[in-house]
Amino acid sequence: MTTDIKLYNTLSRIKETFAPIDADKVRMYVCGPTVYDFAHIGNARPVIVFDVLFRLLRHVFGESQVIYARNITDVDDKINARAARDFADLPLNDAIRRVTEKTANQFQSDMNELGCLEPSHQPRATEFIDDMASMIQTLIDKQHAYVAEGGQGREVLFRVNSMADYGALSNRNLEDQQAGARVAVEDHKENAADFVLWKESSATEPGWDAGFNGETIHGRPGWHIECSAMALAYLGETFDIHGGGLDLIFPHHENEIAQSRCCHGTEKMANIWMHNGFLQVEGQKMSKSLGNFHTVNEVLETDKVGGRKWPGNVVRLAMLMTHYREPIDFSVKRLEEAENILRKLTRTASQATDVVPGGASSDMFHQALQDDLNTPLAIQELQKLAGAGSQDADAQTQFVNGLALLGIDTASGSADVDSAAIDAQIARRLACIADKDWSAADRIRDELLAEGIQLKDSKDSETGGRVTSWEIKS
Ligand SMILES: [Zn+2]
Repeated sequence: MTTDIKLYNTLSRIKETFAPIDADKVRMYVCGPTVYDFAHIGNARPVIVFDVLFRLLRHVFGESQVIYARNITDVDDKINARAARDFADLPLNDAIRRVTEKTANQFQSDMNELGCLEPSHQPRATEFIDDMASMIQTLIDKQHAYVAEGGQGREVLFRVNSMADYGALSNRNLEDQQAGARVAVEDHKENAADFVLWKESSATEPGWDAGFNGETIHGRPGWHIECSAMALAYLGETFDIHGGGLDLIFPHHENEIAQSRCCHGTEKMANIWMHNGFLQVEGQKMSKSLGNFHTVNEVLETDKVGGRKWPGNVVRLAMLMTHYREPIDFSVKRLEEAENILRKLTRTASQATDVVPGGASSDMFHQALQDDLNTPLAIQELQKLAGAGSQDADAQTQFVNGLALLGIDTASGSADVDSAAIDAQIARRLACIADKDWSAADRIRDELLAEGIQLKDSKDSETGGRVTSWEIKS
């Protein structure tokens, strides 16, 4: 079995064979949530995708050899606004803490429900203010940043013209951006594309004292510098994989790269940049005005989507049925499809009694997963194994280990099949038939069918009596 993992790199625009910088240490960073509101299902996609990659890397390189850092952005103007709205009678900093703690806990519990492992590190931006300030001062010292007087106080800005290949990730160059820019250059910026590293806070805004060129600016960091500082703290100046949604390529990731490379004087921030595709809902862009905006919590805990609650493993499987780089259409139909597949997988898993713990998973399954996380193909392979393998110990082992690599839990949720309960229903139905109570017998059959269980009647070859078996409806 080959252990080569191929990953599509947004930076080089090709699939590359993955080779970690340190042969026995893999370091990955993924941009995490800004904690001011419930995570929506679009937010869940990168968490699930990079959880599969985390599991695969741990499988190939060893569990303790993979460091995965995902930040929590707990300083942001959206958070301030939410805190002022929801906790108007508290001092702002207390209100902010209430909002961010509640939201971060909710995020954690939603992602647990979706079967995601906790990353190795989940740093909060506010714990790394000194690190950010020190990176910003280095950027000033190296002429990559400057202090300017903006409309709302002083700002430290990144000087994009100081970086020859600014824009390489998103494939934009500064001339194009300026030619197409419809916004007037703000007077205090040398270039319209210069972005904020630090901005002065008013008396009512959260802020920290930081010294730049010996001058203290009571202020707060820009969003991009948070990730640069936290990635440095946990993964070093250059690391292996940086991930996030497609919408983060510009400006967020472009600016992370600019800050980190210019600060450290390095050629790369991360070797491989991975981005998951967009998510639509029922064929349309998710938006509050269209009424198709769903939080993860709504999908899991309310009947707002398709009139029922959906188990986390169904939502996870529904996401993984599309390749991560493709756009995904999240719909009730897709959830139902996932649930049907999960029923079959669950049944096979419950019958797999000869599994060798830690044994091999299937080559075909691995090849699919290692080929730029081809989860749709990997799921097909699992379905094949489920069809073939109920009697074969090797196939059972491969099947169960494959499920674990995708993080699909078949032991929980309503998609679980309770064989004993089905057998009891079949016995009841046979008793009804013996009593010639046809309508009661049909009712039991129809109820099972509604749960996706198809009954099959046949004759016992010796006694000629009725025998009923069941299968998961496809
Ligand atoms: Zn980031």
